[in-house]
Amino acid sequence: ARTLRLILGDQLNAAHSWYRQRDPDTLYLIAELRQETDYTRHHVQKVCAFFAAMRAFAAALEQAGHRVLHLTLDATADCADLPALLRQCLERYHCRHFEYQRPDEYRLAQQLAALARDLEVTSACCDSEHFLLPFEELGDYVKPAKSVRMEGFYRKLRRRFRYLMDGEEPVGGRWNYDSENRESLSAQDIQALPEPLLFSNPVGDILERLAAHGVETFGRPEAQLPWPVTREQARQLLRFFCETCLPHFGTFQDAMTAQSPHAWSLYHSRLSFALNAKLLSPREVLDAAVARWQTPDTGVGISQVEGFVRQILGWREYVRAMYWINMPDYAARNALDAQRALPAWFWTGETRMNCLRQAIGQSLQYAYAHHIQRLMITGNFALLAGIDPDAVDAWYLGVYIDAIEWVELPNTRGMALFADGGWIASKPYAASGNYVNRMSDYCRDCHYAVRGKTQADACPLNSLYWHFIDRHAARLAGNQRMALPLKNWQRQAADERERILRRAEDVLASIEVL
Ligand code: FAD
Repeated sequence: ARTLRLILGDQLNAAHSWYRQRDPDTLYLIAELRQETDYTRHHVQKVCAFFAAMRAFAAALEQAGHRVLHLTLDATADCADLPALLRQCLERYHCRHFEYQRPDEYRLAQQLAALARDLEVTSACCDSEHFLLPFEELGDYVKPAKSVRMEGFYRKLRRRFRYLMDGEEPVGGRWNYDSENRESLSAQDIQALPEPLLFSNPVGDILERLAAHGVETFGRPEAQLPWPVTREQARQLLRFFCETCLPHFGTFQDAMTAQSPHAWSLYHSRLSFALNAKLLSPREVLDAAVARWQTPDTGVGISQVEGFVRQILGWREYVRAMYWINMPDYAARNALDAQRALPAWFWTGETRMNCLRQAIGQSLQYAYAHHIQRLMITGNFALLAGIDPDAVDAWYLGVYIDAIEWVELPNTRGMALFADGGWIASKPYAASGNYVNRMSDYCRDCHYAVRGKTQADACPLNSLYWHFIDRHAARLAGNQRMALPLKNWQRQAADERERILRRAEDVLASIEVL
């Protein structure tokens, strides 16, 4: 071969212009690597999903007439890292040219750029042809070390890419239907939750390989992986979402329940793995949802489809832009100076706080939790308790099926922990037990009393919430959106405040056994 082309595990984009021509002189390399299984400790389903999807992609490429080298851990275990493997392949196959697609992760982009500089052969980096916003233009939309709100960014992209637009105006006359998208689930709603579409992809051999090579993972292994690993499965899941979930997507987007076997998925698309591995393009997902909304009698209203478009065209493109404009500094931000260790029960789900037990338990079981569980249950606890952002990042980066740093880090450090000091969020998303009780049915089966503040069985979130407000009062004083909670805190009697803070200190002292 003359040219070696590298395909990373999250670059499974069959529509990439690379594949328009078949060239016997081009060898495609796709490889399982210890570097990738070990850069953080991953949920076992996440490793299986990537490896199974890579295997299927390699087979499909080969079927389409390309020359493909698919290497498993058995073949690459001796390679120190990706550059070592690439050097080995370039030599073995006498390649004179190396090409790769721009990685979405800073870590890999740095590594490959450094390798390309050092190689004796020529090399080229091209676009991954996935996102709507061109990489080169990110700086026109966001600025380094500056607050940029998602809403303005999103409206620009709506206009530019003409989604849900009526001339220069948003369809329906409003940009934002968030206020209609915050319902909790009644008993009847819970009964009606759809059974999620699951796949059963055999990954027993991958599990064996992980064991044989001593790869350390966590979470529940599934020999029949329920996640989509081929383009066809991903499209099936997209269809299922549009037909079954989209009619209620927005309405129950923020809801949580423990009272249904389908509670973990609700009306969410569960397309994040397929999107992040690039089995699906964001455009085709957006187009499918909009087409469904345009079809008569599907029960999909504008608030539902707008809520979904906002996630993909808005949030997903936005966090990618914020990541790239702010790396590597972003990864070191700790604006609230949070230092506490992550409680060990984040890795087991063994806590008496029912909301956390539910959210962590299902994360370990399915490698999935929906946005509000991530933001307002696990994220909120870590924020209130002042957990070290490095530890929180490591947990999120490991546990979720869709966790890749470019999207995990801004969501965790920015949205959930406010560790960027407000580049992403206009205020810390801090909440007491009251919020959890309003959006879920977790509290009624909890060991702790959601209405309690200071007694021994009072919901820990309640005192932690005020402790958070109190310890960051100076910083929050400058934030308009925090004025009310601050005032509410300062208005309370001094002895009551002292009791609350004492209870919070007790909670923090016993954080490992809550
Ligand atoms: P749906 O609710 O069906 O939404 C549709 C799609 O919109 C998602 O598949 C996703 O591609 C996109 N989307 C929605 N919200 C966001 C968001 N905030 N940022 C970027 N894209 C979004 N998402 C990841 O893909 N990988 C992560 O590692 C990740 N880590 C997160 C960590 C924290 C602390 C928080 C609060 C959120 C995180 N998210 C992450 C965002 C979001 O929670 C997930 O994208 C979503 O839950 C995936 O499930 P779904 O496909 O069913 O999403």
